[in-house]
Amino acid sequence: MGTGHGAEAVAPAPVVRMIIGSLPGFAPYSRAFALAPLEFACNMKSVPETPWHRLPPEEVLGLLGANPQQGLEAPEVQARQRSHGPNALPPPKGRGPLLRFLLQFHQVLVHILLVATVIKLAVGAYTDAAVIFGVIFLNAVIGFVQEGKALGALEALARALTTEATVLRGGQRQRIDARALVPGDIVLLASGDKVPADLRLLGVRELRVAEAALTGESLPVEKNADPLAADTVLADRRNMAYSSTLVHYGTATGVVVATGSGTEIGRISQLLAQTDVLATPLTQRITRFSHWLMWAILSLAALTFAVGTFVHGKPLIDMFLAAVALAVAMIPEGLVVVLTITLAIGVSRMARRHAIIRHLPAVETLGSTTVICSDKTGTLTRNEMTVQRLWAGGAGAEVGGVGYAPQGALSRDGQPLPVLPPALHELLRAGLLCNDAVLREDGSGWRIDGDPTEGALIVAARKAGLLEAAEATAQPRLDALPFESQHQYMATLHGGAPPRLYLKGAVEAVLARCSHALAADGSRQPLAADAVHAQVEAMARLGLRVLAFARRSGQGLAHIGHDDVAGGLEFIGLQGMIDPPRAEAVRAVQACHTAGIRVKMITGDHAVTAAAIAAEIGLDPRATRERPPRALSGRELEALDAAAFEAAAADTAVFARVTPEQKLRLVQALQARGEVVAMTGDGVNDAPALKRADIGVAMGITGTEVSKEAAAMVLTDDNFASIEAAVEEGRGVFDNIVKFISWILPTNAGQGLVIIAAILAAQPLPILPVQALWINMTTAVLLGLTLCFEPREAGIMRRPPRRPEAPILNLELVLRIVLVGVMLMVGATVLFHDALARGLSEAEARTIALAVFAVGQSFYLLNMRSLRQSMWRLGLMSNPWIWVGIAAMMGSQLLLTYVPLMNTLFHTAPIAAAEWLPVLAVGLTIYAVIGAEKLLRKTLEARAAKASGGKA
Ligand code: ATP
Repeated sequence: MGTGHGAEAVAPAPVVRMIIGSLPGFAPYSRAFALAPLEFACNMKSVPETPWHRLPPEEVLGLLGANPQQGLEAPEVQARQRSHGPNALPPPKGRGPLLRFLLQFHQVLVHILLVATVIKLAVGAYTDAAVIFGVIFLNAVIGFVQEGKALGALEALARALTTEATVLRGGQRQRIDARALVPGDIVLLASGDKVPADLRLLGVRELRVAEAALTGESLPVEKNADPLAADTVLADRRNMAYSSTLVHYGTATGVVVATGSGTEIGRISQLLAQTDVLATPLTQRITRFSHWLMWAILSLAALTFAVGTFVHGKPLIDMFLAAVALAVAMIPEGLVVVLTITLAIGVSRMARRHAIIRHLPAVETLGSTTVICSDKTGTLTRNEMTVQRLWAGGAGAEVGGVGYAPQGALSRDGQPLPVLPPALHELLRAGLLCNDAVLREDGSGWRIDGDPTEGALIVAARKAGLLEAAEATAQPRLDALPFESQHQYMATLHGGAPPRLYLKGAVEAVLARCSHALAADGSRQPLAADAVHAQVEAMARLGLRVLAFARRSGQGLAHIGHDDVAGGLEFIGLQGMIDPPRAEAVRAVQACHTAGIRVKMITGDHAVTAAAIAAEIGLDPRATRERPPRALSGRELEALDAAAFEAAAADTAVFARVTPEQKLRLVQALQARGEVVAMTGDGVNDAPALKRADIGVAMGITGTEVSKEAAAMVLTDDNFASIEAAVEEGRGVFDNIVKFISWILPTNAGQGLVIIAAILAAQPLPILPVQALWINMTTAVLLGLTLCFEPREAGIMRRPPRRPEAPILNLELVLRIVLVGVMLMVGATVLFHDALARGLSEAEARTIALAVFAVGQSFYLLNMRSLRQSMWRLGLMSNPWIWVGIAAMMGSQLLLTYVPLMNTLFHTAPIAAAEWLPVLAVGLTIYAVIGAEKLLRKTLEARAAKASGGKA
């Protein structure tokens, strides 16, 4: 089966060795050069000092056995992959498993219990000591396993986001997973890319790279390909692009000199330890709360200890153990662990719905989102462009057909256009030549590789009979200025007769550079800008995305810069394309409105197009197709003063031709009004707005690596509906956290009250420390954890967003916690004393008191499956784990009660079957009382809503 590893490795090529041997500057590396290039490359990790920056490009290429025109061939790539391994950093060294396990014991409560163990040993109660220690140990194991699972889930997500790289292999330009890169690969960099490995630059066009990840310097550094002095320090090596740094501008070609842990960043990151990845503002708040609670409980324990010892004159050790029982009973140990697990489950649920969380706090913030600012193209629309209208030489034409299949005909006023007028022909040709996309047919239909906007232009040209290959042969491309959002145009220079420069882009950007226009017959005429604008308006009102085209002579030019297209161009015409709204986005926008979340469109497209699409999507509930929402353009925003800007940010639904700086200002203005803002972005310059937003959302498919780095969440399908889904999950996570807290606290409150009452009344303890430990551990793990799996509640997106500053528990829940705590305490105390009064032993009476907690909490769990609905409404089986948990809890209680070993260990005793009846009655009472309380509250709320609705 094997492919014969090693056998396929490319044999060292003597010719290449000869060429390298003759290169200048060879002498200092004679030891390394004694190897063939491939062997050398394979051994590169062992000679990391090779000063690639010192060598001229051809020497570097020779050393690496690389070919800048063809790239590596497939067999060679495979051989190098085998010897170098994947281009990936080793996972950051986190806390090792042993340390993580030992840290489970590093909690104040455990310290107290360890003291209690020592005291038990000192007084000769060896069994008790062993049991306490055993339970602490078991608790640590459970904590360790759960924490490990949560960490594992998050790590899996981190791996889900891969970096892609554009390489030249076998003469073909390809987009590949960056992990497959090998030394010697030729990599093409463009603005927005993350540099995928350490590269020696070979050719550079205005390349600026931000190297903060490596050098801490946040300002982008200008790069070139010239050799440098050998002692040039890392930060000054202008001819190198290092792995994990970000391309902010320009393009470049480079050859990979080091991959994975051999890269500069690889060397640093091995030194970095993983920080605490499981912390969010909420977990931090709750950790602080549980610390505070713990000290309060310890003070209370000290007080009861003092009262017992000094007021009631009880023995010191008894009272110490009673105080320990109190502390154990009241401190909610499981809280933080379960919270972490709930968050981790939320993160995986979001991932299943195409939203990858990069910063854990976003999980919580999502639930509080009040405004979502979304891009239009590709997020709210499908990004499947079809050119429908052309306009050139003062006359229009319609293009038939939909999608990328080049089938359809050109017509004018319903009549076919058998002969293309020269201006229309030139318009289509400009679209074909000034283009980086590729149209291809595979088994499942026609596809576009590259920008769909450009793909649509190829399809339109093909429909009129123009072919890419023929045009490219007649007018070969000499140079190009790639499209950058900030310029809003792309230009290409072509040879042939006559040489030409084509420009395409946003109407404003192109028209501003034109002095003349092409007449229908191909002659030159004065530019009638008003007529062009009127035509653009007409197309945009139909929701079409309009691109303008222009040209000039390319005579005497070998390269082009922005100066070459600054003015004096000849306007050719317009192409208008539809980009239908995503059906799921329409539904998601509707769902957001119901959930009290406003959606704003912030697009680089034309204001009229944006408004028309916004109307189709229903972005502004008051607007219609006939009366589209008002769109504010970037230029209009610019004219506003700070106060007016803030008001406009709040009141407007559509912003068009917005610059990245304005995006940032919009986020800030909305935040100043107290909004929690989710903002999408895909370009390099969107990074500041993404970072500033409460939740920066990047596009997984079309987004640049720079935007992904800056975002808190990445959409794997670029779809607006996934943001709405993540908000829904975020609300669900928060609900489950609230449910768990409201469920667990009564156990602690109830047990604590039972013990305090007993000590104050100088009565025997109804619950011993080991028993409290057992109950807390079993209820938290077997019952409480099942709440994390509770599905989202039905009406979750009909509620308004949660205010971020609102307390986790509202008054209603605090009262509920107290109510259940008191019911548990009364039930346990009354049944305990009743049992003693009937002559049962203390062990039997305690077993009954413990059963009250196990059964009572099981019933209360059913209440807490939803904060408002009854469990019957939710569906009894919508979370089967609840029943598994309750069955396990009952099983463990039966073991505790009837297994002799457990009786010895935990000081329990078997009880008669009839003793369970009053225990069940307590459980049922809790269920009924809380059920009634929920019903009452719902009725009151409904009445209040009706009253306010009636008034409105
Ligand atoms: P959104 O911001 O919603 O994604 P967008 O794609 O229109 O919308 P940009 O990518 O900033 O935003 O594009 C701005 C304008 O530049 C477009 O409206 C279009 O006129 C023009 N444009 C877009 N793509 C190209 C391209 N490949 N070549 C030339 N011009 C383009």
